[in-house]
Amino acid sequence: MPWSTGDVLAATGGELAFGDPDATHATVSTDTRSIGNNSIFIALKGESFDGHRYIGVAVDKGASCIVAASAAMEGVETGAWKAAGVSLVLVDDTLAALGRLGRFNRDRSHVRLIAITGSNGKTTTRALTASVLAVRHAVHATRGNFNNEVGLPTTLLRLAPEHRWSVVELGMNAPGEMTRLGHICRADMAVITCIGEAHLEGLGTVEQVAEAKAELLDTLESSAVVILNGDDPHLRKIASDRGLSPVWYGFCEDAHVRAEEISWEAGLQRFTLCHNGERVRAAIPLAGTFMVQNALAAAAAGIQAGLTLAEIAQGLEAATFEPGRLTIRETQTGIHVIDDTYNANPLSMGAALTTLSRLKEDHRALAVLGDMRELGKGAPGFHRELGRKAAESGVAGLYACGDFAGEIRLGALEAGLPDHCIYTGTKDALMERILHDIHTGDWVLVKGSRSMGMEQIVTDLLCR
Ligand code: ATP
Ligand code: MG
Repeated sequence: MPWSTGDVLAATGGELAFGDPDATHATVSTDTRSIGNNSIFIALKGESFDGHRYIGVAVDKGASCIVAASAAMEGVETGAWKAAGVSLVLVDDTLAALGRLGRFNRDRSHVRLIAITGSNGKTTTRALTASVLAVRHAVHATRGNFNNEVGLPTTLLRLAPEHRWSVVELGMNAPGEMTRLGHICRADMAVITCIGEAHLEGLGTVEQVAEAKAELLDTLESSAVVILNGDDPHLRKIASDRGLSPVWYGFCEDAHVRAEEISWEAGLQRFTLCHNGERVRAAIPLAGTFMVQNALAAAAAGIQAGLTLAEIAQGLEAATFEPGRLTIRETQTGIHVIDDTYNANPLSMGAALTTLSRLKEDHRALAVLGDMRELGKGAPGFHRELGRKAAESGVAGLYACGDFAGEIRLGALEAGLPDHCIYTGTKDALMERILHDIHTGDWVLVKGSRSMGMEQIVTDLLCR
């Protein structure tokens, strides 16, 4: 959808320093490396960069409108840009202006919007939900992990006239952020997948995480539909505190959308999807019972959007995922690798270990674990608990790297795993040791926070 300078002024509430209010622009960009001709450049200021320093580059590359912070433009020579016919819009805060442009685009689109948040499973649930709705509609969705105050508006700026549904992921790591995201996307449906110990550095306790996620619900209009995981006690509390009657999904008795009879066959996790006395067999190409919960969230959204259970099952099975989220791979030598290297926090680590112990059946399980980052002061304790859980889940070998590998070892020892089954060291050292220990039939879980780069281990295992 094209933009006029007047649209930019209306959306941002900014002031036109110079330029033609009727001039039109094709796209919006915050990055001069990918900026196209005739586009609007928004100068964002980050911790280590300042977009205001790249305005000249943006103009050289064909930007026709600049949105900049008034304070940053004081004393800046702008004559050449004016002469080039560029419009300059001055605002107080360019990040807020980006959000307002995203909101403006959302408001002029024809979509109904589903916002998905939660400590884990946002991207997976977004992919499942988008795939379900795509069975019947033209769907717009978040790409990758574009879920924050830059990513969400950037996502909304891609909305096109043909889209009927939008499925967006919302992520945050500080109080107040979810409120801003909620106001930007104006959700018709809100899904919260679960609450756990993630981003504790910015948020404090798990109760504070719950409150920060719940901010989304406070931004909704009364007609909006709330879809919550009924198996999560924090979400039960959020709903009762607010007197909400959400659509519950999960394994609990009172869930409106439930799953029964879970089985694992030929690389697919199968389950019976139940709603209102109706039942249909469904399948997802993902391991872990919590992935079934994510599928139920997608199913609940699909039901609310008017799809049949058969259509929902079709959409679930067709979903595709980015790598590293409990993806199961098999090496040529008959070793199963559970690649969950995308990211990690205590809840998702626990869930992945449970999945490992369920899937291995009679085989040996090995866990290769890296640090869980951003846990603040409690980090040593969380890693010790992780070591304990790994031992309790029955691993035959535990390989840990990172700053907290020693804590993982201590926890595992406390839970009774013998010392000779635990190995700590650099990733390269771990890899050498694993290759020495591993044999056909073993199941290996590889997981750690994004910055640990644990996928290197998966790649090494797969090419042996
Ligand atoms: P991020 O905050 O990094 O964007 P996300 O919330 O988008 O993460 P996903 O990318 O879908 O989450 O999954 C991340 C990891 O969390 C996966 O590797 C998976 O093991 C785990 N996970 C996914 N869904 C759940 C869930 N419902 N409960 C617990 N763990 C989950
Ligand atoms: Mg994500």
